[in-house]
Amino acid sequence: MRPAPVVAAAHLPRRYSPTAYQTLLDCPYRFFVKSVLGIQELDEADEALDKSDYGNALHRILKAFHDSAPPPGRDAALARLQEISAAEFAALPAWTAAAWRSRWEKIQPAYVDAWLDWVAQGWHYHSGEAEFAMPFHVAGLGEITLHGRVDRVDEKNEARTVIDYKTGSAQGLKKKLKTPDEAIQLPFYAWLAEAAAVYLPINETPVAPLELDGETDVDAISRRLPELLEALAAGAALPASGIDAVCNYCEARGLCRKGMWHV
Ligand code: SF4
Repeated sequence: MRPAPVVAAAHLPRRYSPTAYQTLLDCPYRFFVKSVLGIQELDEADEALDKSDYGNALHRILKAFHDSAPPPGRDAALARLQEISAAEFAALPAWTAAAWRSRWEKIQPAYVDAWLDWVAQGWHYHSGEAEFAMPFHVAGLGEITLHGRVDRVDEKNEARTVIDYKTGSAQGLKKKLKTPDEAIQLPFYAWLAEAAAVYLPINETPVAPLELDGETDVDAISRRLPELLEALAAGAALPASGIDAVCNYCEARGLCRKGMWHV
């Protein structure tokens, strides 16, 4: 039988990130495994620098770059980025770091161009890895916190934009932007930070921000989470219901045993 556990309100988490929310939408059973049971995949102790390590390195590099108040000239800004990048990659022990480093070297000039273009439009860096949190009361569950950490926050006069760095393809991100009620991360950030929101693909050139449509009802998208939680607290089940595109990368597949049951 397809698993579909029911969880007592006392066992539901009290803090929800966009990742937890996305997981709940993608497959409630996967949410059950990760966020209710707290089962996490082991980080394999291999030497190779995988794509997520690479993404984390780029996030650290870009935070250090912007925290350092880079100089306004292109050559000087690029030199600063190269220096910070070289130091970050030098500290990585993996033998594959060289391949990733050389990939990033080719993208750095495009990143600096995109940054200077953005600055020319009047934007300035406000903060990196910024935490936002919103308390919420859910009937049957009590006080919860909706929270998220945003890669970069920029400001221009009274306006604010949150920027989410992505190492995925711009093509895939454009698709996500067409269905913001299914790919909720960016609308959720926009709602939490009360800001405009963009994806910034940093793994291809040219580097160009992809903006969430300003007409998106981020309030409705974000408030659906407390509504879902209210239903769970009232006894709604958490069925295994991922689509293949989700299941193919799911660490809980051995637990839900997809393929052993039929709906
Ligand atoms: S393998 Fe698919 S159905 Fe099973 S838990 Fe993961 S996402 Fe859900």
